[in-house]
This record gives sequence, C-alpha cells and structure tokens, in this order.
Amino acid sequence: MKDYYAILGVSKEAGADDLKKAYRKLALQYHPDKNPGDKAAEEHFKEINEAYAVLSDPDKRSNYDRYGTANPGGLGGTGAQGFGDIFDLFEQVFGFRTPGGGSPRAPRGEDLETTVQLELSDVLHGVEKELVYHRLVNCETCAGQGGKREPCKACGGRGMVEQMQRTFFGNMVAQVPCVACRGRGYTLKETCETCKGQGRMRREEHLKVQMPPGLDDNQLLRVSGMGNLGPGGPGDLFVRPDIKPHPSLQREGPNLIYSLELGLAQAALGSRTHVPGLEGDLELHVPPGTKDGEVFELDGKGLPYPGGRGRGKLQVVTTLKVPTQLSSKARELLRQYAQEMGEEVAPDGLWDKVKRVFRG
Ligand SMILES: [Zn+2]
Ligand SMILES: [Zn+2]
Repeated sequence: MKDYYAILGVSKEAGADDLKKAYRKLALQYHPDKNPGDKAAEEHFKEINEAYAVLSDPDKRSNYDRYGTANPGGLGGTGAQGFGDIFDLFEQVFGFRTPGGGSPRAPRGEDLETTVQLELSDVLHGVEKELVYHRLVNCETCAGQGGKREPCKACGGRGMVEQMQRTFFGNMVAQVPCVACRGRGYTLKETCETCKGQGRMRREEHLKVQMPPGLDDNQLLRVSGMGNLGPGGPGDLFVRPDIKPHPSLQREGPNLIYSLELGLAQAALGSRTHVPGLEGDLELHVPPGTKDGEVFELDGKGLPYPGGRGRGKLQVVTTLKVPTQLSSKARELLRQYAQEMGEEVAPDGLWDKVKRVFRG
C-alpha cells in the first residue's frame, strides 16, 4: 500500500493548509512540463496528485486512514484515473494548468446558433427538419494547412519557448507560447490562395436534425461537433426553435388554452359543442348554468412534457357572448324572458336615441 503521507512529506496530523502547501511545492517541482521526457518525474507527479486527491478529501482521507484505500471494498478509487484528471486537480489548486501558464489544449472552433421554424403540431409529435447554415470547415485546397508549412525557426517547431518568470514560488523557467509562430510551431512558406492562409473556408451545410416532442421556445438543442472547425476540433451547433403561434390555441408550458365563446342560451341551457384540438375537433359538453370564465380541462390533450412522458391539458375557458345585433323576433323573445324572470329592462326605443354610450 502506498503511504500518501510519506509521498507528500507530511505527518498524519497534517491539516488542510499543510497538505496544500506540500502539494504545491511538489507538484511544481515534478510537473511534466518542467521535466520533459523524465518518466520517473512523471510517475512521481502522478503519485503526488493521487496522494493529494485522497488526503484533501475528508471522506476519502478517513477511509484511507481506516482501511488503507479511499473506497472501502473498492480498488482503484484512489484518484489516479488518468492524466487529464490530474491536471484538473493541478488547475484547481493553482488556477492554471501548466507551470508556464499556457494551455496545452488547442482551442476548439466557435459554437454556432441557428433558428428553426416549427408549428405547434411539430411540438406535439416531434419532427425532422433540414437545417441550412454556414460554418467554417477545413479549406479543401490546402486540407486545412493554410499553405505550405515549415517548422518555426524561433522555437524549433515546438510552439513554446522557455522564459524565466518570477512567481509566488520563486524564479521559475516557464514555457510560454512562441511569439513568432503564435504557438503553432510552424510558419507558412507559401500561403494558400483559397483561404489566404487561414486553413478554413465557409461552407453551406445541409443537416437533418430530429426535433424532439415537447420543445419550448428558447430551449436550445445542441448538435455536437457541427460548429466551426478550430485547431482543437469543431465547436457545437445550437438550434433554437421558433414556434409559430397557433390561430386559436394558446400555449402555456405543456398546457393549451382555448377560449370558448358561449351564447346566452347555450350558457343557460347547456350545450354540446366542439373544441379545435391539435389533432382535430374534440367534443365538449357544457352543463346548463355555465358562467363566464369557467374552465373545463381535457386531460392529455395538451402538449408532451419535455422528455416525452405524458401530455398536459387542454384548458377551455368560457367567454359569455352578449348579443349586440338582435332581430325584432329575438328582441321580443328577450322581453318576454325578462318579464318572466322579473328583470327590469329599458323600454323599446330609449337607447336608439342615444348614439353613444360611455362606459366607466
Ligand atoms: Zn515558433
Ligand atoms: Zn487553404
């Protein structure tokens, strides 16, 4: 079993600050960038990171103290999962990845965004759409090389040069990107005519994308690797749905809202009516005595929940329609109705003389 305390050179009682201090000193000393090609230093750097990963985590540390491993009953849980993780730990403690401050990772290409027009019915079932957009890809003439390359003379093709830097830990030889080649390690002997040395060109893409059911406006879909191409690989494409408003249905998350107009008689006597659902007309029985603003809910007739499990409701909200154009027969019937119900109404012809009625 490895003695993590001995690896970091601290006592078993060491506190968080002591551990961090010891780790900082050793990690800088054995960092692979400071010991190029030194396998022993690299191995030791891994051990230091493994020891610190375990001892700086209170749970893992107490398990280690008790059982000798960070995970009781499980091997390989001690932290050395690979070099990527180790550099992540280094970055957490120091705030940068390599002693020189440069990034070993080449930048990815830019992310792109495009909009796709959808109908509300597309949200119901999902739909396949063909997107047409432009992105930067490798230049076909020079295969992304930018022209004829030759190794940079200033850095010998390494892309990095050594520079003395004053740091918190004292003077250090740091690796910094070469200015002459901007860290690329090569210069162009001949520049490609097509891309003017950029190595990239604009291309129209036709891309089929499956839009899942239940999409919302402002819910971006990520298509991995379909953004601009960069030295470290392509960026991503983000697809923004633009959902067209429906002529009669309003959307509220997974629910749909429909405003149902009811005549006076329909509201009073009840009605068997139809509501335009997304998949066709739905029958709705309005009971006698329905008031203005009542809500009837049709379960499962809304839109799918995001993720596609189950559907929301179709909410029918009643609006009472008061007739403004009356035939003389309807007028007469309403007068009879008013008399029957004991409602006091204006005598015939009174309002005909007043052209405009002002309301509060
Ligand atoms: Zn260079
Ligand atoms: Zn080119």
